[in-house]
Amino acid sequence: MTTLLAPASRSRERVRTHPVIEVFGPTIQGEGAEAGLPTHFVRFGGCDYRCSWCDTMYAVDPAVVRATAERLSVDGILARLESLSGAPRWVTLSGGNPALHHLDALVDALHGDGFLVAAETQGSVWRDWLTSLDRLTISPKPPSSGMASERNVARFHEFMDAAAAARPVSILKVVCFDESDLTWARDLAAGYPSLPLFLSAGTPVPGPADVRRAVGDRYRWLCERVAGDPTLGHARVLPQLHVIAWKEATGV
Ligand code: SF4
Repeated sequence: MTTLLAPASRSRERVRTHPVIEVFGPTIQGEGAEAGLPTHFVRFGGCDYRCSWCDTMYAVDPAVVRATAERLSVDGILARLESLSGAPRWVTLSGGNPALHHLDALVDALHGDGFLVAAETQGSVWRDWLTSLDRLTISPKPPSSGMASERNVARFHEFMDAAAAARPVSILKVVCFDESDLTWARDLAAGYPSLPLFLSAGTPVPGPADVRRAVGDRYRWLCERVAGDPTLGHARVLPQLHVIAWKEATGV
């Protein structure tokens, strides 16, 4: 689905620049509905949250983003993608929170080049371009993040009202670190029964010496809890596959 921008605004949008932290791939999507599929990533700088366990603070901290982000236009981003080897069908728009940016023209251009386009956001800022995606992962942040305030939950519900009207191809994904995250995820997801629910076992940040083992232990805990809970019979439980493959390395 393409957006309905007039030609003049379409070309303005095409030259608008965005703060890009990294463009990398091919790699494997580590989470959510496309877990295991090859993809390129475009990571945008800036986030309206400060999760306690954020593993991409280099795309969140304003000082780091100011110092390291490159301002790239749509054509600049496409050129970076063309310079990468391999030919995944997917491009994943990530962050930070990519929904802080006006990416309508980028999504159109990626579709024009034959890519499928995915993005993940916490559900705090709605943008119309989210409707054009081939996959929107809505990933609200549970209590262990320190971001599950009443205000943020209210903003999430407003986001979901906009999504319900626009009907993007979407899933709900919640990273769970402990029991209170799991209870929170279950209660929140109950309000959106038609959305596929993915539960992702969280990776500790900073990671312990044996981070793969820590991921495995938390994944087993989450599997056992979900398998024993009849109200979560529809949930799919996944570990963060990229951590198992590459530990905490960035740019892969
Ligand atoms: S929403 Fe995502 S990018 Fe932003 S602080 Fe939280 S984990 Fe990091």
